[in-house]
Amino acid sequence: MSLKFEIHPSANPTPEKERAAKLENPGFGRVFSDHMAIVRYRQGEGWHGARVESRAHFPLDPAGAVLHYAQEIFEGLKAYKRDDGGVNLFRPDANAKRFRSSAERMAMAPLPEDVFIEAVEQVVRIDRAWIPGGEGSLYLRPFMIANEVFLGVKPSAEYIFSVIASPVGSYFKGGPAPVSIWVSENYTRAAIGGTGAVKCGGNYAASLRAQAEAIEHGCDQVVFLDAVERRYVEELGGMNIFFVFEDGSLSTPPLGTILPGITRDSIITLLRDSGTVVREEPYTIEQWRKDAASGRLKEAFACGTAAVISPIGKVHSASGDFAISGGAAGPVAMGLRKMLVDIQYGRAADPHNWIRKVL
Ligand SMILES: *Cc1c(COP(=O)(O)O)cnc(C)c1O
Repeated sequence: MSLKFEIHPSANPTPEKERAAKLENPGFGRVFSDHMAIVRYRQGEGWHGARVESRAHFPLDPAGAVLHYAQEIFEGLKAYKRDDGGVNLFRPDANAKRFRSSAERMAMAPLPEDVFIEAVEQVVRIDRAWIPGGEGSLYLRPFMIANEVFLGVKPSAEYIFSVIASPVGSYFKGGPAPVSIWVSENYTRAAIGGTGAVKCGGNYAASLRAQAEAIEHGCDQVVFLDAVERRYVEELGGMNIFFVFEDGSLSTPPLGTILPGITRDSIITLLRDSGTVVREEPYTIEQWRKDAASGRLKEAFACGTAAVISPIGKVHSASGDFAISGGAAGPVAMGLRKMLVDIQYGRAADPHNWIRKVL
């Protein structure tokens, strides 16, 4: 299926000087570009009304389904400016595919993958002036909400799909600082049969209390354990996790109740390309503590589109704290980070065809 997008450029785009000031130090997620893409769905009519237009409020009826039953999914990917002035997307087809499987799990209308990619590309093209140079990027946020006006509990018959864009700086000024994480023993993130593998707002709503607990304990992030035995490490609130061992091998928790991260998948692929052993296998918090103490564990790091790779320096829990690689950023995490970022910005070869040149 393919939809033709009507393009309506903004009549009042942000003046160049104001935009330059905003791009100076954009931080994360508070500055937005001038345009958005929008596509609507209605049962019986299908996807229609594809437009790129000025970024504006959505008129929402107070009885709109998303406001009551949280039928909502999203994605996150970035557009990177190359040295030659062109623009790269990284694996947008993987985001489109995951968005479709998220929609299926949430009983929402699946958006054709080519429409997803087209919407993202249209926003990047029209707002290319909003892509910061250097280590910055334009963070793209495709999302879908249920929009039927009905308080009955059922899958909505109407949806709005949209893409908005937010320029972001380098996540870490002066190189990635190791993060400290709090082991959530009171709250879990996902159970078998639930929505752990879905990128939906509801998972985040349910994680906020645990994240707040992490902050209260002086930590940057929360790490969740499995919901059955409460001992297997799953992932952080919004990032997957890897462990690096003394013998040079790595491990990461298996798919199932965790979010299938595209960064996670890319790291596994890059490691296997270089002949490194990566196991997708369960790992307990007790083992983690023991391995950190014995020196068998060399590094641990979290990964995701927003921060790429964050080394984990310290782990805090109600039953005691421990440090990993002396609390510093390790060479494996830093090497992988550079490999990934170099591919994303077009500075390194791209043997798996992950890059899509938009401009
Ligand atoms: C988005 C997300 C990730 C990381 O996925 P990427 O595709 O690598 O950005 C990890 N965990 C959760 C819960 C997420 O929502």
